Amino acid sequence: MKWNRNLETFLGCDKEYAEARVALFGAPFDSTTSFRPGARFGPRAMRAESWGLETYSPYQDRDMEETAVFDGGDLELPFGSPEMALSQLEAYTDELVKDGKRPCLLGGEHLVTLGALRAVLKRYPDLHILHFDAHTDLRADYLGAPLSHACVMRRAWELTGDGRIHQFGVRSGEKSEFVWAKAHTDMHPFGLQGLAETVLRLAGLPVYLTIDLDVLDPACFPGTGTPEPGGLGFSQLMEAVIGLGGLQIVGCDLVELAPMLDPSGISAAAACKILRELLLAMDGGSRQKEGPLWERR
Ligand code: MN
Ligand code: MN
Repeated sequence: MKWNRNLETFLGCDKEYAEARVALFGAPFDSTTSFRPGARFGPRAMRAESWGLETYSPYQDRDMEETAVFDGGDLELPFGSPEMALSQLEAYTDELVKDGKRPCLLGGEHLVTLGALRAVLKRYPDLHILHFDAHTDLRADYLGAPLSHACVMRRAWELTGDGRIHQFGVRSGEKSEFVWAKAHTDMHPFGLQGLAETVLRLAGLPVYLTIDLDVLDPACFPGTGTPEPGGLGFSQLMEAVIGLGGLQIVGCDLVELAPMLDPSGISAAAACKILRELLLAMDGGSRQKEGPLWERR
């Protein structure tokens, strides 16, 4: 008797835990979202919509079948209790890291990053953080709450100290946050200027990559809680992600897709494609060195 348990994984992430190098999991949590909620539905939408993609990437000439990625499903997190949710995320990520897996977290709102980061930092105290976002996320608190998606990079800085957070695409925040960033983070506002140099500087160091998908322009990514015009085009972000393939990415996340805010499905499709390219860049299996397929004889 053959049966299908209908357990949905992200496209091509069907390896067993024991053999996996990267462990994907979802954090369906959006309790501190400051404007339009819905990011709790992000992980589920990405798994479902990923089946519209091919496993093969013509950009990298690699296939998801070559990767060793395990999809552990979604955590059950307590809505309304950010500290409890973060503790559970930290404990889960701790286990992955202890087992030698590189965690890849699907949000959820951006606060969930902090849970994974706490665990990854224990293992890699010299960790650097690459942060793509429309927003500074550097507030000391948001309406008095220190645990908010608007404060997540400030909380991260409290763990890393100065110069270890590299921010790109940022185009929104309070003036005081931009002033604070000048002294404490490596901020590259508006676009990706300086990314190539940063990648060179981070070579050989452990890097945690956090992508708040609202770094994309709302024209190609409207399905998010706090859309901010003036953002990256899809191809710009995808090429940037592919360009990180040589780094030692020891953990990553993709957050702030709120699929119900975009009934067209464009945003979920964009998120899925970014994740495919990210997983391939992080864990491409046997790498092709011959250059793009269509330029070979
Ligand atoms: Mn953010
Ligand atoms: Mn943002």
